[in-house]
Amino acid sequence: MTDSLLPASLELWQSTVQWQPNEAQQQLFQQLYEGVVRGNQQLNLTRITTPEEFWEKHLWDSLYGVAPWLSEALSLPWQEALEIRSVIDIGTGGGFPGLPVAIANPSWTMTCLDSTRKKIAFLAELSQALGLPQVQTVADRAEQVGHQLQHREAYDLALIRAVGPAAVCAEYALPLLKVGGVAVLYRGQWTDLEEKGLRQALKPLGGGAIQVRAATTPLSQGMRHCVYIAKKRPTAEEFPRPAGIPTKQPLG
Ligand code: SAM
Repeated sequence: MTDSLLPASLELWQSTVQWQPNEAQQQLFQQLYEGVVRGNQQLNLTRITTPEEFWEKHLWDSLYGVAPWLSEALSLPWQEALEIRSVIDIGTGGGFPGLPVAIANPSWTMTCLDSTRKKIAFLAELSQALGLPQVQTVADRAEQVGHQLQHREAYDLALIRAVGPAAVCAEYALPLLKVGGVAVLYRGQWTDLEEKGLRQALKPLGGGAIQVRAATTPLSQGMRHCVYIAKKRPTAEEFPRPAGIPTKQPLG
């Protein structure tokens, strides 16, 4: 499998994320890559399978969003008080951003949530094969999990990539966060109009300040925005609304 070796790209990690993986983490990234490519033969996990694309669109992209917590060189204005212990990845699919983040910071517990049972069964097996005991998997919808005692207002960080419009992502993520926690919305383009809509949506969800970090991806120069939302107040009991309603009637 020599032509399927991931690039190490240590300088690129350092210059863009201000962090770099150690040898054990590089090996885990390689095992993750091979596992996802194997899983793809049965499940439609990703269309990204070349080593360079996987490095950029899955590994780099996943870790760019949590860079402020991986490196002391980066910071968000209101994050100092946030000590992260528990993280949830909502709509994790083939494990992104959850699994690269779990590898990068093994002291965080990582809950990978997806409504597709087969994907979650695959991720449970893969995280065990990789030796990641800090990863737990949940097969359910975000609208249900948001009302379950063990998950509601239980997380310090909620990650969500490629799951839907920003207001929908906020309705899934905010109920799962503790007050003081942060939601990270991974976006491509980001407009003032989307931000205005998101601000409206945040009011009933208990969301507060928003920070946006823009970047271009290091190999193909694609546009990325990470939208960070601080949770200021408890979310009203009626949110998230029942399954399907957040996408049919987005807040905002
Ligand atoms: N986050 C991954 C990534 O960026 O590669 C996967 C993105 S994939 C396009 C969207 C995933 O979200 C699918 O696996 C789907 O099953 C899941 N999903 C969509 N709506 C959901 C919901 N309401 N609750 C839980 N998972 C959901």
